[in-house]
Amino acid sequence: MKKLSLIVLVLAMVFTSACTQADEGKTNATGKTTLKIGYLPITHAGPLYMESHAPEEQLEGYDVELVKFGSWPDLMDALNTGRIDGASVLVQLAMMAKEQGIDLKAVALGHKDGNVLVTSKNIEETADLKGATYAIPHKFSSHNLLLNEMLKKDGLTYEDVNVVEMAPAEMPAALSEERIAGYVVAEPFGAQAVAMDKGKVHYHSDEIWPDSYCCVLVLRNDIIKKDEEIIQSFIDQYVKAGESANRKDDAVYESFSKYMKVDKEVLDLSLEWISYDDLRIEQEEYDRLAGFMTEMSLTENPPVYEEFVDNTFIDKAK
Ligand code: ZN
Repeated sequence: MKKLSLIVLVLAMVFTSACTQADEGKTNATGKTTLKIGYLPITHAGPLYMESHAPEEQLEGYDVELVKFGSWPDLMDALNTGRIDGASVLVQLAMMAKEQGIDLKAVALGHKDGNVLVTSKNIEETADLKGATYAIPHKFSSHNLLLNEMLKKDGLTYEDVNVVEMAPAEMPAALSEERIAGYVVAEPFGAQAVAMDKGKVHYHSDEIWPDSYCCVLVLRNDIIKKDEEIIQSFIDQYVKAGESANRKDDAVYESFSKYMKVDKEVLDLSLEWISYDDLRIEQEEYDRLAGFMTEMSLTENPPVYEEFVDNTFIDKAK
């Protein structure tokens, strides 16, 4: 009995402490709202890294806190339970959460293009991948869709290749050790293998699927409803940040390197492949993406564009 009471007490303490932390996260000591935005340290979250450098006076009555995660499942768990207010995340993971009833809105793209399909140097054509092992980060990713599209384009099927899920950071080493014949993943991990001369670009994503969507900026709808003015200001800054990141100059390297550990040579290469301008989510492209997912049986019922995408803010962005 005593033991049970102790467990209840400990659970209550943990719960109280979790609630206090969450509540404190919403408004800071000066009474300002803090938007907690999750990210993984990848090139694809680029506009957020610039965003955080917005001059204080441009953030009208709120702060942005970037919260770093080590994996997509950890980030999604925090987003789904409201420990963070939004995130730059693989669009497919956000769509799955929405499908499962989490009220998320996709308010902008993270980037366009910016993925490469990497192979070891002895792979000359896609047919050489028959029977080989090829790595993707997660089946719910545009990387998986890009792989399928590439195989189809070159006359192979998905079943012709042994597709494995692998942690992105492990992929360049796995390629150089010949544990895999190739991979497709968020940057800078493709550029790493190329810069180390351990692999080569077999295809750029725009050769397979031009203007492909991959990561999106999502926000919890309850946060949007709470203060639309703050969200508008945040998206204004986000759009400007995308334009700054798209200059791909030394200031960009300086900002990015505060959030992700990367050599300048590797970042420069991955920046060559990516675009951060025009981050509005268009219906035609979204529907194409949802169609690819349905074709691969990744979803039966993808969220419809009108319910999942909210362009209100990006359309008013100044
Ligand atoms: Zn991405």
